[in-house]
Amino acid sequence: MSTALSLLKDVFGYTAFRGAQAEIVDHVIAGGDALVLMPTGGGKSLCYQIPALARQKAGQGVTVVVSPLIALMHDQVGALHEVGVGAAFLNSTLSLEEANAVEKRLLRGEITLLYAAPERVATPRFLSLLDGLYQKRQMALFAIDEAHCVSQWGHDFRPEYRALAVFHERYPGVPRIALTATADDTTRADIVQHLQLQEARQFVSSFDRPNIRYTIAEKKDPTLQLLRFIEREHAGESGIVYCQSRKRVEEIAEVLCKEGLDALPYHAGLDAAVRQRHQDRFLRDDGVVMTATIAFGMGIDKPDVRFVAHLDLPKNIEGYYQETGRAGRDGLPSDAWMAYGLQDVVNQRRMIDESPAAEEFKQVLRGKLDALLALAEATDCRRVRLLAYFGEQAQPCGNCDNCLNPPAVWDGTEAARMLLSTIYRVQQANGLHFGAGHIMDILRGKDTEKVRQFGHQKLSTYGIGAQYSEQQLRGVLRQLIATGALEVDAAAFNTLHLTESSRGVLKGEQKVLLRESVSQPAGRARRERGGTKATPAVAATLDGQGQQRFAALKAWRAEVAKAHNLPAYIIFHDATLAAIAALDPRSLQDLENVSGIGARKLETYGPGVLDVLHALD
Ligand code: ADP
Ligand code: ZN
Repeated sequence: MSTALSLLKDVFGYTAFRGAQAEIVDHVIAGGDALVLMPTGGGKSLCYQIPALARQKAGQGVTVVVSPLIALMHDQVGALHEVGVGAAFLNSTLSLEEANAVEKRLLRGEITLLYAAPERVATPRFLSLLDGLYQKRQMALFAIDEAHCVSQWGHDFRPEYRALAVFHERYPGVPRIALTATADDTTRADIVQHLQLQEARQFVSSFDRPNIRYTIAEKKDPTLQLLRFIEREHAGESGIVYCQSRKRVEEIAEVLCKEGLDALPYHAGLDAAVRQRHQDRFLRDDGVVMTATIAFGMGIDKPDVRFVAHLDLPKNIEGYYQETGRAGRDGLPSDAWMAYGLQDVVNQRRMIDESPAAEEFKQVLRGKLDALLALAEATDCRRVRLLAYFGEQAQPCGNCDNCLNPPAVWDGTEAARMLLSTIYRVQQANGLHFGAGHIMDILRGKDTEKVRQFGHQKLSTYGIGAQYSEQQLRGVLRQLIATGALEVDAAAFNTLHLTESSRGVLKGEQKVLLRESVSQPAGRARRERGGTKATPAVAATLDGQGQQRFAALKAWRAEVAKAHNLPAYIIFHDATLAAIAALDPRSLQDLENVSGIGARKLETYGPGVLDVLHALD
């Protein structure tokens, strides 16, 4: 067996590498640089942890892991301790004495993986520490996690990441591995350039997350829609609800709590201590719903997040994909659900228009928003579109809303032309611009005060669209705005303006296809996915006694986790507990072959697990 494989088995208790892991690990152990693009949940951590162990074993010293996630370092290091690996972190949460103690352990060669915050890396003190290790040939590897933070195009730009080029300049010959779940070309090029990874081999995995079901619902009463979605599909399960503003986060968390859900708010306006407390509860307790701005989530490696909901439109597909990717890292069925409406389009466009950025930069942002809007408006497979955005070809997936319930499509081209020509006519007649409500009233032949005030009942388009419902026309307007055939002037009462590309639609050169807005049939049953609150899907195949064992093991795990001040999943994943419950092992040898039990966990927890099972006999 190769060193890498035996480390995988002995330390982590896994039998085989996944996907590109084996190739990446071999390349880095041999001293090569690597840029790893893998979706969330793909297994990036092992890509540097195994090489760190192998190179340490070969006498090559310590691996420094740069990660922006100070709040998670404690748990990351805790997880390594659980499998018997020497690890530590250096960040601003440590006192001077604690930091000194870590440095001493480092110099004594007791640490295999050292996690460091990016702002610490460029400090003279840290560099002189590395200088010492380098001179003694004890600098084994640099791992740069969340490498997209180096790019200003992403949503997680961290200027301190730019300083990480120092590794290459100052410590030639030490291999580097950069990892990210953000895959678009601009970001990738930025990573290569700013981290000087021109020579690195690139490992690009498929970005498909087949266990995630994508749904984009038309926004009507978003809070109610969200509540229904959680109640029907994910009662009692962990999830994240993303909202755009802090205020909205607070409101939604409150509503969810009133409805009896265990919901907590998280946004940058909260005290650091409150944020940490809420994050800890989310990671450590079952069934917490985190209501958050995008300040929450990077690096959250909780494996059993069962849904990610968006109540507001993200900025682009990268953001949407990263955020939704936090669901289902354990590979079990999970949901990405979003409510989307006209106001989202208007808001996002306005935010770009009003931002102080250079026009060239705004152009890039608009292009990215357009791609997301096209996804939201799509009537065909969402996954095909998502993957296409990341340069991958795919077949209709059978696991998104459009595949599962192909939407009836109606041709809104005629309605679109009527709307645009009404907008054109009122402008001609009055030299004024109006908002969506009034334009629709004219088209539908409504007799309102405003119509009479401006004499709009005399327009040739007055009443010619009476056959359309307001909801249909709203859908058409949304798509016209989404595709840029109409503009909304947010600075002037959200009035509608024609654009260059209105002409194509007016002339009938461009079709406007829309989904039939059917309201969801009420009382749709919870999907059959084999799980209930008491038994997660992972344990669904167990018989009665197996279920009992699973429940007892979970109770035991909760106690151990509490005593170690770590999330339960770091002790054992649900899947590992379910496998133990199914096997009903009687000896340590039996236990040894369960996936997720390495040598250290077998030694530490094996006897305890056997006791739990004995007690049930
Ligand atoms: P990423 O950082 O890419 O989002 P992680 O490194 O957190 O993903 O891995 C996701 C999950 O998959 C973790 O729970 C990890 O233990 C598990 N995992 C990774 N590689 C393997 C493997 N080769 N065999 C079994 N489980 C694995
Ligand atoms: Zn699909």
